[in-house]
Amino acid sequence: MPQHDYDLFVIGGGSGGVRAARVSAQLGKRVAIAEESRFGGTCVIRGCVPKKLFVYASQFAEHFDDAAGYGWTVPDPSFDWPTLISNKDKEIARLETVYETGVQKAGGTTIHSRVSLVDRHTLLIENENRTVTADQILIATGGRPNPHLALPGHQHCIFSDEAFDLPVLPKAIVIAGGGYIAVEFANIFHGLGVETTLLYRGREILSRFDMDLRRHLHQAMERKGIRILCHQVFERIEKRGDGRLEAHMSGGMALTVDQVMLALGRLPNTENLGLDAVGVETGKMGEIVVDDYSRTSVDNIWAIGDVTNRVQLTPVAIHEAMCFVDTVFKGSPTRPDHATVPTAVFSQPEIGTVGLSEDEAGKKFSDLEIYRAVFRPMRNILAGRDERMLMKLVVDAKTRIVVGAHILGPDAGEMAQLLGIAVKARLTKDDFDRTMALHPTAAEELVTMYEPSYRVVNGERPAEYPGPL
Ligand code: NDP
Repeated sequence: MPQHDYDLFVIGGGSGGVRAARVSAQLGKRVAIAEESRFGGTCVIRGCVPKKLFVYASQFAEHFDDAAGYGWTVPDPSFDWPTLISNKDKEIARLETVYETGVQKAGGTTIHSRVSLVDRHTLLIENENRTVTADQILIATGGRPNPHLALPGHQHCIFSDEAFDLPVLPKAIVIAGGGYIAVEFANIFHGLGVETTLLYRGREILSRFDMDLRRHLHQAMERKGIRILCHQVFERIEKRGDGRLEAHMSGGMALTVDQVMLALGRLPNTENLGLDAVGVETGKMGEIVVDDYSRTSVDNIWAIGDVTNRVQLTPVAIHEAMCFVDTVFKGSPTRPDHATVPTAVFSQPEIGTVGLSEDEAGKKFSDLEIYRAVFRPMRNILAGRDERMLMKLVVDAKTRIVVGAHILGPDAGEMAQLLGIAVKARLTKDDFDRTMALHPTAAEELVTMYEPSYRVVNGERPAEYPGPL
C-alpha cells in the first residue's frame, strides 16, 4: 500500500507543470495536476501563442502595402477586431484541451482548483475542500504582470492579460515599459491601426539586448509611426468624464488615450500557497528559491518555470520540467542548463538573438572580432520598403568561437533558433566560413561575412562605430 495518494502532485497547469505531469505519468507514476484557471498557462492562454497570432494579424497592413510593388491591386483593406478575438479564442480553447487531455491520456489526473500546501506532503484542494497527499510536490504556478500599485490611477490601466480580450480596439494607446511585452504590443497595436506611444524609463528600449539591435529597432519603429518616449515614467493616470484616460508623465507632459497598458515585468505567483507554513524559502520578489536541480528548501518540494524567476521563457520551463523528471523519477540528477538561450522579440522588424551581446562579450574577452552587415532584404526592394536588416556575429578573436549572434529583420527568430545550435556547440567563425551559402536568402549573410567589420580590444571599439548606450 503506497504511503501517499500520489507519487507526484503538480501545482500549476502551464507549460512546465503540464510537461512534468505528463512525462511522469508516462513513466507509470501516480500523478495529479491542479490548475486554478485554464490548462495551458500564461504561454498558451495569455502569452506567447495569442501574442504570435496577434503579430501575424498586425503584419497584414504592411503586406497589403508591399503587394503593389509586386503588381497586386489590393482593395481598401479593413480590419475587424472581434473576428480576430473570436478566432484566437477558438485556437486557444483547442490548445487548452490538448494540454489537459495530454496528461489524462498519459494516466494522470487533472484537477480544476486552487491548491495550497498544508504540510510537506499534504495539499488542500480548495474548490473541493479536501486534502490529498503526495510523495513529491512540484510548484509551477508561473507569474503575473507587475500591477505597479504605487502608480496613482493604476486601476485604470490594462496589462498584457487584458490586451488579448479588449472588447473594442482602442484608437490610441500608451504602453509603459521597454521590455519584450511593451515592445511587442507597441508593434501589434500600431500594425492594427492604433495610434501608439511607448514610454520607457531608461535610455534605450530592450536593455538586455545588443546595443545595435536596440538602436536599429528603435529607429525602425519610429519610422513606422510609433512614438517612443525614453527617460519617461508615468506620474498618474486619470479617467476623464468621457471615459478616455489622461496619462501624466514625468516632466509635465500628458497624453489622452483610450487605454494605458503597463508592461513593467512580471511577479512570481507565490501568494497564499502555504509556502511559509511549510518552510519553502522565497526571495525578494516572492520567487521560490531553488538549488541547481530545482529543489526548494524542503527536500520533497520542487519548483520550475517563472515562479522561480530564473529565465522567464516557456522552453526554459519545459526544459526544467524534463530535468526534474530525470532527477526525481529516472535516477539521473540533471541540472537545467540556462546558458546560451536563444530568444526572439516579435517586434516588427523582429529580433532574434543568442549568446553574448557585444558589450557583454567585451567585458569577458580582451579581443573581439565583430562581423556586421546592414542591408535591405530582397523582399523589401520591389515593395519599395526602406527597412534594413541587421546581422552581427561576435567572435572571440583568440579562439575564433562565435560567442554571440544577433539579427534584426524578417524571420530573425527562426534564424536565431538554428544559430542557437551553432553557438551552443561553440562553433568557430571558420566553421561558419566553411558552410556553403544558401542563395538567395537573407540568412546567407551569416556565412559570407569574411572580414571583421571592426575589433573590440579591451572593450574599446573604433570611434566610427556606435559605442555602448
Ligand atoms: P521585461 O523584464 O522584459 O521588461 C520590463 C520592462 O519594464 C523593462 O523595460 C524595465 O526597465 C521596465 N520597468 C520595470 N520596472 C519599472 C518601473 N518601476 N518603472 C518603469 N519601468 C519599469 O518584462 P516584460 O513584462 O516585458 O516581460 C516579462 C517576461 O516575459 C520577459 O522577461 C520575458 O522573459 C517573457 N516574455 C518573453 C517573450 C518572448 O520570448 N518573445 C515575449 C513576452 C514576454 P529596465 O530595462 O530599465 O529595467
